Amino acid sequence: MNGIDVAGRIASSDRVVALTGAGISAESGIPTFRDPGGIWDRFDPAEVGTFPGMLRFLISKPWEGIEFLRGLRSVFASACPNPGHEAIAELERLGHLRCVITQNVDGLHQRAGSVRVLEMHGTFARSRCMGCAAVLPATIEDFLCELDQMVVKLGSYMVSHPAHLLRRCPCGGLVRWDFVAFGEAVQCLDEATVEAASCDVMLVCGTSGVVYPAAALPELARDRGALVVEVNPDATELSGVADVSLRGRAGDVLPELVAAVRARAANVS
Ligand code: NAD
Ligand code: ZN
Repeated sequence: MNGIDVAGRIASSDRVVALTGAGISAESGIPTFRDPGGIWDRFDPAEVGTFPGMLRFLISKPWEGIEFLRGLRSVFASACPNPGHEAIAELERLGHLRCVITQNVDGLHQRAGSVRVLEMHGTFARSRCMGCAAVLPATIEDFLCELDQMVVKLGSYMVSHPAHLLRRCPCGGLVRWDFVAFGEAVQCLDEATVEAASCDVMLVCGTSGVVYPAAALPELARDRGALVVEVNPDATELSGVADVSLRGRAGDVLPELVAAVRARAANVS
């Protein structure tokens, strides 16, 4: 590993942080949005990338809207955590990992068993009232169910106002998915910044490092003395920041790394 003992550094630390992006969920069958055939390849983010924009699009072009919602559904419907998510959850159970900072909105880290997950771009597995701001717990199944209901409503030609598509909170406000759309502030930034600035090792897994402010966290970690380890089959904008680049798929590299950490712990005891 480039002469640096990554497993040894993790084994002797209880302040490891994982920063993850779309690539860690690629092996779960969730394509990155920008790749050919991805959501942003087929639909213009300038039109559907904001929540009000998406609602306007659905109402004004219901048949294209149905295609968009079905595309979204097919992305998330059958995805399950993969060995990469599971390895990160295992590092937390072993007491080495403090938290996962993720840009993903798919809820797969929690489903793999990770407990402390900072979702900078929110999640589809949670809703929020646009009136009273109450956070309403949900599951990906609830999200899929809502997509199905929207498709049925749009197909009935009865939709002329967002209130016809969205649920209502007990306060009367309309409820939306709690993901961060284009132009909206990221979530958990203060907490993520504190974690990045105080970790010993940062595992940067499956992110291209082009979406800010998440992309600034590895440099912050490195400047504060952390070992920055990139796990990605390809070089990225963050490769120059990383002390070590482990080239391969997260689902292959991370379980091997966790096995090596376990072996270290066994040798020490
Ligand atoms: P990105 O699409 O810009 O980059 C993905 C990175 O993952 C690339 O560098 C690629 O080389 C790497 N990669 C591909 N397969 C991999 C694998 N098996 N193991 C490890 N790495 C692999 O992703 P990003 O940096 O997260 O930025 C995209 C934005 O889109 C984010 O804001 C994210 O919120 C959103 N998004 C989320 C999901 C999701 O929730 N699963 C999916 C697509 C996009
Ligand atoms: Zn409310």
